[in-house]
Amino acid sequence: MHEYSIVQALVNQVEEQVRRHQARAVHAVCVQVGALSGVDVGLLKTAYDLFREDTICARAELKVEPVEARWECRACRAELAPGGPLTCDRCGGAVRLAQGDEIVLAKLELEVA
Ligand SMILES: [Zn+2]
Repeated sequence: MHEYSIVQALVNQVEEQVRRHQARAVHAVCVQVGALSGVDVGLLKTAYDLFREDTICARAELKVEPVEARWECRACRAELAPGGPLTCDRCGGAVRLAQGDEIVLAKLELEVA
């Protein structure tokens, strides 16, 4: 399961932050999930619930913040409507995905000694 390896990577990142801040507990983990990241949020939560036992995240709530896809022109940086043509209607430049394919650990609620 794709989501399982994502959760594994997230928990690793959390553990690193916990060490860095010498935290005693983690209360919440907030992740941003892009609309085009290919992640199923339901599966992600299920995977998290299975994986977090015996980790520092055992009692931490997982909060998911959806991130909409946003496209922009590589050349003039104009923002373009999703689902439109793949060339810019202002300058004809190539279009790229500016956001929406990421999975980011956005916020942690830690209990620091
Ligand atoms: Zn353009």
